[in-house]
Amino acid sequence: MPILKRTHFGNPILRKKAKEISLREITTPAFKKLVRQMFGAIQNIGVGLAAPQIGKSIRLAVIDIHPLPHRPDVTPIKRVLINPEILKYSKETESEYEGCLSFDGVRGSVPRSTSVKVCYYNEKGEKCIETAVGFLAKVFQHEIDHLNGVLFVDRMKDMKTLMTAQEYSKRILNQ
Ligand code: ZN
Repeated sequence: MPILKRTHFGNPILRKKAKEISLREITTPAFKKLVRQMFGAIQNIGVGLAAPQIGKSIRLAVIDIHPLPHRPDVTPIKRVLINPEILKYSKETESEYEGCLSFDGVRGSVPRSTSVKVCYYNEKGEKCIETAVGFLAKVFQHEIDHLNGVLFVDRMKDMKTLMTAQEYSKRILNQ
């Protein structure tokens, strides 16, 4: 399977509002292949990927949360989000370090709502309404932001927390 080419910050596609997907398109072999390729692209390197990050300005993102050694509280989960929308953000927020596959080797602390209510279509074209909390809620917010041209650095309140992944593992992860 050909490797998807990732886009990086500075690329205008990451700043565009991505286009809605027609529900008819979901059933096509090309679309199913794209979803499979996106899951393949994040295997072992990330927990989520939005289509603009592979140069496609459409409202599609995949989430694949695998067991994280430093986060025993995180439940493994897989999601395909088609035309997702956040219906409700909790007032309560929490700051946590994030990275992004469009920012190789960069981390920064981002305040996000601790829970969100999300509406999306899954890979079968079924409408889903889900309330996510904790880590999953943050991944939903990060990926859906991508579809609206918003990057995690835009959400940062303290730019002094921006650091390389190397400094992050030295100073934050192994604290
Ligand atoms: Zn990202």
